[in-house]
Amino acid sequence: MQRIYLDHNATTPLNPAVADAMDAALREEFGNPSSLHHFGQRAKAVVDLARSSVAALVGADASEVVFTSGGTESDNFAIRGTAEALERTGRRHLVACAIEHEAVINTVKALGKRGWDVTLVAVGPSGIVSPDDLRAALRDDTALVSVMHANNEIGTIQPIDELAILAHERGALFHTDAVQTAGKIPLDVKKLGVDLLSISAHKFYGPKGIGAIWIRRGLRILPIMTGGKHERNRRAGTENVPGIVGMGAAADIARMKMADEAARLAPLRDRLEKGVLRAVSGTDVNGAPTPRVANTTNISFDRVEAESLLIALDLEGIAVSTGSACSSGTLEPSHVLKAMGFQAHRTQNSIRFSLGAGNTEADVDRVIAVLPEIVKKLRSLSQPAAARA
Ligand code: PLP
Repeated sequence: MQRIYLDHNATTPLNPAVADAMDAALREEFGNPSSLHHFGQRAKAVVDLARSSVAALVGADASEVVFTSGGTESDNFAIRGTAEALERTGRRHLVACAIEHEAVINTVKALGKRGWDVTLVAVGPSGIVSPDDLRAALRDDTALVSVMHANNEIGTIQPIDELAILAHERGALFHTDAVQTAGKIPLDVKKLGVDLLSISAHKFYGPKGIGAIWIRRGLRILPIMTGGKHERNRRAGTENVPGIVGMGAAADIARMKMADEAARLAPLRDRLEKGVLRAVSGTDVNGAPTPRVANTTNISFDRVEAESLLIALDLEGIAVSTGSACSSGTLEPSHVLKAMGFQAHRTQNSIRFSLGAGNTEADVDRVIAVLPEIVKKLRSLSQPAAARA
């Protein structure tokens, strides 16, 4: 069976050139980058090269980039590191938006249990944070605002530059989780005007378990990982050299290909979206169509259980998701769709299709061709027996 992968927001396949770069690093660069001898200095050199590549992907200086174990750690570092650094200033209020990834939501909630005040800014059905709503949430003691660049479930892009200005006007710092935009749209930390930015390699054809945080030069943030003096004293632990090399290679490739790939994926995604809405009744797109990353659409199917639809599609060789990878596998409604104000049934009948390298028109057309029959069958099964008889 020819399988079609439409879950690139969960993770992407490793680019073969990235695998080659990692293979060489695994075999040849075994030195510890902290060692002063030849082997250590070789490893340090490849780490520094990758740091420049990652910095270039976000328009930053290499000295401002710290490697982490992924997006989750970067988000934790940004929030916990800032909170700890600002604790003594009396700023004890954290703001995030209600559709953040669990890495942010659950981190601010955890701090909420330890005495921090937390405000989650609501979003409407557009899935876009309104600057007025953020303004209303800000206080004189707000320490940090964290708003994601693009949402992982619906793909909407937030007006980060505008929101960051509002936070700064009240003396608060601003963090953005750019895990779903890095490698998809051009990033420039200066234009975004943020203080901290998180990214993760496995979302742009790099390896899993490696990510980075950009920390604006001069910003004081306490390490959450303490130990040796690695990463200029900001993140202790011997560097994951092959992972870092892979992330650097993936960043270089993403920078070269990003514009062409987005131009290729947007019409494919639109073809899928229009085709599904036309072929299957009782369907609707969740969230504003623009601004949105080019590869993502999230569609609700009336009177269908999303998990059943996911499994039925998987049996046809088509891989999709019911939301974020972390919450799929459970029957929990999407916290994103819930926060957007959708009724219970819509938070449980929606499917995310996220396209990427390798997807073709033929893939999209196959999805459109198989969906009507699958949905018809699932709807007939969900009818009460009397109605079916
Ligand atoms: N933030 C967002 C928006 C994500 O989509 C993800 C991954 O699902 C993460 C953070 C977590 O990244 P990682 O899997 O590298 O920990």
